[in-house]
Amino acid sequence: MSNSHNSIDLIGGRLSLDFVNELGPSSAFSWEDVLRFLLMTRIISSERSAQLLALPENDPQSAGTLLGKAQRLHSALLQAFAALLQKEPLSRDWVEPINEVLRVTEGHDELLPQNGKWSLEFVAREGGLDWLLAAIARSAAELIAEGANARLRVCSNPECGLFFYDTSRTHRRRWCSMSLCGNRHKVAAFSRRHSAPRR
Ligand SMILES: [Zn+2]
Repeated sequence: MSNSHNSIDLIGGRLSLDFVNELGPSSAFSWEDVLRFLLMTRIISSERSAQLLALPENDPQSAGTLLGKAQRLHSALLQAFAALLQKEPLSRDWVEPINEVLRVTEGHDELLPQNGKWSLEFVAREGGLDWLLAAIARSAAELIAEGANARLRVCSNPECGLFFYDTSRTHRRRWCSMSLCGNRHKVAAFSRRHSAPRR
């Protein structure tokens, strides 16, 4: 498994947004895709990832059940976040896959150091496989509970579509990343201005 991905690739600012961003616009992703995300976000270690990679062979039913839950969660989050952005009401059908994970997962909150400050994180009790999705579901639940106040944004580049949580002071962040979409937009605007015929 590639180690080229690290947290620098993640721009969502919330685990549930990174989950939707990284697994893309289709919820038909594979078991390997889920593991790659869990490894990238350090929800699992590389040792655990290697063990889980063999699960579809050793215990196809458990692997299939968890993959199904991950796909349902992903599909529900895509719809829920799109509705949140539009400030539209959320359907119970989108919330249920989140509750499904929250309900079966035992764990506790814990203060953990993150980017030089303390943040309150959910730490799932290990054991069953459901805990693998617990932190993602919890992150989504928090965002949804913030409702219209959630500073959920989608990148202003219409070809990008990445979600992010706007933690900027002015709350006017427009781009997933200044170095990716922001600069591309600036360069395009600059060349438009400078290639326009003078009148
Ligand atoms: Zn973007």
